[in-house]
Amino acid sequence: MCGITGYTGKENALPILMEGLKKLEYRGYDSAGVAIFDEGNIKVIKTRGRLTVLEDKLNGLTISTTCGIGHTRWATHGEPTDENSHPHLSNNGRFAVVHNGIIENYRELKEKLTGKGYVFLSDTDTEVIAHLIDYYYNGDIVEALIKVRTKIRGSYALGILNSELPGEIIAARKDSPLIAGTSEDGNFIASDIPAILSYTRDYYIIGDDEIARIRPEGIEIFNSDYELVPKSPLRVDWSVESAEKCGYKHFMLKEIHEQPRALINTVSPRVSDDCGIDLEINVTPEFLTDINRIHIMACGSAAHVGQVGKYIIERLARIPVECDLASEFRYRFPILKKNDLCIVISQSGETADTLAALREAKRRGVRVLSIVNVVGSTIARESDEVLYTWAGPEIAVATTKAYSTQLSLVYLIAVHIAKTRGEISDSDARRLVSEIKELPEKLNQVLAKTAELQYLSSRFYNLRDIFFIGRGVDFAVALEGSLKLKEISYIRSEAYAAGELKHGTIALIEEGSLVIALVTQTALAEKMLGNIREVKARGARVLTIATQATAEAVSEASDYCLMLPCCYDMFTPSLTVAALQLFAYYIAAARGCDVDKPKNLAKSVTVE
Ligand code: GLU
Repeated sequence: MCGITGYTGKENALPILMEGLKKLEYRGYDSAGVAIFDEGNIKVIKTRGRLTVLEDKLNGLTISTTCGIGHTRWATHGEPTDENSHPHLSNNGRFAVVHNGIIENYRELKEKLTGKGYVFLSDTDTEVIAHLIDYYYNGDIVEALIKVRTKIRGSYALGILNSELPGEIIAARKDSPLIAGTSEDGNFIASDIPAILSYTRDYYIIGDDEIARIRPEGIEIFNSDYELVPKSPLRVDWSVESAEKCGYKHFMLKEIHEQPRALINTVSPRVSDDCGIDLEINVTPEFLTDINRIHIMACGSAAHVGQVGKYIIERLARIPVECDLASEFRYRFPILKKNDLCIVISQSGETADTLAALREAKRRGVRVLSIVNVVGSTIARESDEVLYTWAGPEIAVATTKAYSTQLSLVYLIAVHIAKTRGEISDSDARRLVSEIKELPEKLNQVLAKTAELQYLSSRFYNLRDIFFIGRGVDFAVALEGSLKLKEISYIRSEAYAAGELKHGTIALIEEGSLVIALVTQTALAEKMLGNIREVKARGARVLTIATQATAEAVSEASDYCLMLPCCYDMFTPSLTVAALQLFAYYIAAARGCDVDKPKNLAKSVTVE
């Protein structure tokens, strides 16, 4: 998420910080700011909005400084406002902090620090770090930071200034990217290589749990025992363009691979170590117990998340769920009752049809819970409750990590409601949460199947039509796999509930057609075997995506079988979809399509 820059050296720091932030704009942001040394004090200039707004503010100043840190924020905690923008200062102005990531336990830390007299000026999770450093500071900031790290949970890349040591930047990271660049004329920190590439090609990777001290004359990196970690610099040989994608050919591929981390960011703040769930929404158990019906409204891929949600919520919580395309919902005179709950899903939080569906539900007095990726977006603001996905900015038009994180929240909602209503026991709920926590690791195993998926794509990239079939949640995922493929490769593709084939669609199958059969549901594997045989008998080639539990039943009847790790049947969509995303990606890339910007499509559909 977003960007950090820092510079200390011989040159004027401000232009270097701003140039670096511009190079990181591709990561997405809603506010920006810098902290610099100004006659021995730290001065912070920050604002909501684009970098040009920050530039306007800086233009009025006549400061020449050789050390500072910069930040572009992509809000996760607290709306995008001037106050919530980074850097954040400790109350005495001694420390300035920029942060990328999420501090999961910031609430309890904020409470403790408030009790000790610290005053919070923002709604961010980040501000606790500035105060914690101050709290533990005893003349040595590295020591203080080592202590702070034992107190915070979550992901972070940090850049810190200490007014007592002008010219020095302290940096640290855990699960968020940060590098330290080095050159004759000065040293740098940055979230990503493009930010420093105009100045140097030499950089150090700051490891998870390491702390770097950046001074004009050199860089020292320490481990958590305050011992120096010997490192040699690496040399970049990428172009600026490829560096922005961290070496991936397209943003879509990068975002597909970011999914395990995005899932961790989304799930872990809401589940405890012993697998309890706290969604941090203001909904009473009585309300959940009394829900009569759930309506899920969304568009595109988010609507496919809703389809999966219907199967899971009905199975676990035993509440009837209606899943509507938001564009249809508002015009079909929907029947809404007082005890209904509406769930709306939108990556951008600005999708026009979804917003209209939300307003319709609210107008009719129904409570709305939204699942949104962009903090402070219109849908988030207008909902009664909001659950944010912490997927980070998604740049490729075809969604991948937003879909996956939305799905993970739907799982948590289903388990939470089911438990509250007594449909599943406490221990079953914990077992399911533990399954959800294992998904990122299993997702990594799917993403490691690149070679297999590349091979399969190379066999099929020139087809005209591709069909997807599945039953249960596999049907819901088939819809998403098919959409992904047509969005980016322009191959005509249809997804069918496998049981529907005989009712007409099997007429489309001909010699050489490719049918992708999703078979992850143990109880339905035999039925799927029947469907695979039906299409094979009509000349189709079948690529089956199965789990280790279902493969035996269907692999022999298939031409190709891609195997996924086992997990609870209802949660397999998280794994299946990753395989389908990669399949679609490699097909589109092989066809030479503009994967990140497919023709005729826009990222955020803000018109009806
Ligand atoms: N969680 C922090 C905030 O909301 C940092 C977000 C970011 O990575 O930009 O301010």
